[in-house]
Amino acid sequence: MRNFVDLHTHSAASDGTLPPAEVVWLAERKRLAAVALTDHDTADGLAEAARAARPLAVRFIPGIEISAQFTGGALHLVGLGIDPADRGLRAVLGQLMAARRQRNPRMIEKLRRLGVDITMAEVRALAGGAVVGRLHMAQVLCRKGRARTVQEAFGRYLGCGAPAFVDKERLTPRQALEGIHAAGGLGVLAHPPQLNYGNLAQLERIVRSLVRHGLDGLEVYHPDHTPDQTRWYLDLARRLGLLVAGGSDFHGAGKPEVRLGRPKVPLAAVEQLLAKLGL
Ligand SMILES: [Zn+2]
Ligand SMILES: [Zn+2]
Repeated sequence: MRNFVDLHTHSAASDGTLPPAEVVWLAERKRLAAVALTDHDTADGLAEAARAARPLAVRFIPGIEISAQFTGGALHLVGLGIDPADRGLRAVLGQLMAARRQRNPRMIEKLRRLGVDITMAEVRALAGGAVVGRLHMAQVLCRKGRARTVQEAFGRYLGCGAPAFVDKERLTPRQALEGIHAAGGLGVLAHPPQLNYGNLAQLERIVRSLVRHGLDGLEVYHPDHTPDQTRWYLDLARRLGLLVAGGSDFHGAGKPEVRLGRPKVPLAAVEQLLAKLGL
């Protein structure tokens, strides 16, 4: 009998380290009943993962995790049971990607205005074919003696709130939920503590407003949740009629303390959600 699931995992298609197929194989080795791959803002790993799952007993759920606009902490929405080929979803993800490509040049421009002699070509050369990000800019700043460490470069120039910082383009929660629904999926609020919501009454207000925008479920189980939080979220989900979800937020070797299948998410707790997905 397989009694546990993991509905929140990442592969190398976003910021995890394992290829999508290996995430599925690992879930099979752990004898999970179901596993969802929910990479950040991309559906690129889903076809490979689905192929890998076909001959196995573990049920595969194609998913995604979208970072939405929110003042305060981080608002992440997990979409479960999406059709990766859906045109509407692909268009939305394509727009996000295009906006992100604009982010690096805009940050370089800000650095130059701050008097730093740095070019996009330099940063690209240092990245050596990897997706260019702030880490590479920080390394160039260190080489130029503008900072002693990567950490200092983030603090002085590149970090959130620093003078050369440009935020990532984000969808509104409503747009994200609409995209997930258009692709046939269910929208789940991931790891509520990352909202930095203050007290439980404030969390409830945030969740209720998301429900008005179409939220379907709440991630009750997550390695960052204390036992108290798990209980509160379960209670909140019941009171607001939300589906219960949960997973490990597995990222592979990048976050070695997070293990696939932990915390244990009982199949019984997510049965309603799986039923809605036709599983
Ligand atoms: Zn997240
Ligand atoms: Zn995640």
